[in-house]
Amino acid sequence: MKEIMEQGAYTVLTKLQDHGFEAYLVGGCVRDKQLLRAVKDYDIATSAKPQQVLDLFERTIPTGLQHGTVTVVIGAHMYEVTTFRKESEYEQFRRPTEVQFIDSLYEDLQRRDFTMNAMALDQQGKLIDPFGGLADIEHGLLRCVGNASERFTEDALRMLRCIRFSAEYGLEVEAETWRALCEHSRLLKHIAMERVRMELERMIAGADPVKALGLLAASGILRETKQALKLAWLDQKHMPAAIHLLSAPAARWTYLYVSIGLNAAEIEADMRVLTFSTEQIKRIYRVAAVTYSLRDEMLLITDEFKQGLMHEKKLELLWKLGALAYGKEACLTLHAILTVDPQWMESQGIDAVTSSVLLKRGVEWLDTLVVDSLKQLQVGGKELLAHMDKPPGPWVTEVLKHLLQETALGRLPNESDLLIVEAVRFVNQHNL
Ligand code: ATP
Ligand code: MG
Repeated sequence: MKEIMEQGAYTVLTKLQDHGFEAYLVGGCVRDKQLLRAVKDYDIATSAKPQQVLDLFERTIPTGLQHGTVTVVIGAHMYEVTTFRKESEYEQFRRPTEVQFIDSLYEDLQRRDFTMNAMALDQQGKLIDPFGGLADIEHGLLRCVGNASERFTEDALRMLRCIRFSAEYGLEVEAETWRALCEHSRLLKHIAMERVRMELERMIAGADPVKALGLLAASGILRETKQALKLAWLDQKHMPAAIHLLSAPAARWTYLYVSIGLNAAEIEADMRVLTFSTEQIKRIYRVAAVTYSLRDEMLLITDEFKQGLMHEKKLELLWKLGALAYGKEACLTLHAILTVDPQWMESQGIDAVTSSVLLKRGVEWLDTLVVDSLKQLQVGGKELLAHMDKPPGPWVTEVLKHLLQETALGRLPNESDLLIVEAVRFVNQHNL
């Protein structure tokens, strides 16, 4: 029995055919079915023009009429129905905004990037595969439709899609396709950084990021982006080998960037160039920062001290202070990285004793923090100002930080009266 999403797709095909149009399943869904993978969404190609599709179905959304795409809603599912089209002119190595509607499925499939993405299924479930996509899949190959050089020259983004698909589906890039990719990697500079980032994000979050990173490094394509990227320093020597074992994308990105050897400020700058959101940048910056701050502290400690009992106490304090400065989440992410790659810290200059203690006790130490953010403190800036006869200034933050530290470490109860008393004492002691 077909599942409901698939049934809906066939409902769309049937209706279009009943009205005299050709209609097929195309693209990713056909590929994923052949690979016995879960289908994310069903795309449909048809000889009907967008207006005819709009007229035929009850619930539609005019998603991209100039590209020929209408979204048809059947039950709880949406289907992109796109008129057969070709992309006649490519501008500046990018796909054009204008397309030309045509009558032939063959030509529609011909404009697609890879043979495995250029297959169609008709309503009877017959595979239409003019470019040998199925044979390529069976041979474990990813190959451009037609002339690879031309396909990458038409649209340079296809080179990154090529690397992403190769890693995601465990396919080898066919020799001529790979040669063309390496030859034309320079064209990547025509692609907006946002689109580059979206592809990279999918590679890093995907099934085999090590393979994707290996292909990126081998092709040198990251050296060719519109704006210079430090990520391009990536080489075989600095591969983050255990990256696929991490589940959170933020952990994967930090592990990658730190493995390459970038400092926190460089990581932040690189992510900005890649148009990551401020939220994403902050998250990764904090993990890198807490890693490096621990490393810097460890460099100040002698080897003899590290063998002694006091080392664990000192480390606990530094770890907790790290969590207060950069957030508990940053420490947990660092801990997750250590779990999948216990030797990693050593390559960052943190000794084996320290990293094994962190691995063993890090999470439990975080759990003993009484509070871990200013929001949880029973006093805020306003109360401090109300109780102290002082104009606002940087001292407020300093005092709050001190109070947070003392309560978090269990040295001061989180009660407003006691916090105010300590605040007054701290201000006087430090002449703030
Ligand atoms: P996924 O959604 O997993 O990335 P997909 O194959 O569905 O895979 P989409 O980007 O959704 O990829 O595109 C749908 C189809 O459109 C592709 O299968 C391919 O046939 C075609 N296509 C998409 N982008 C390009 C491109 N840059 N050049 C040529 N054809 C493309
Ligand atoms: Mg898709």
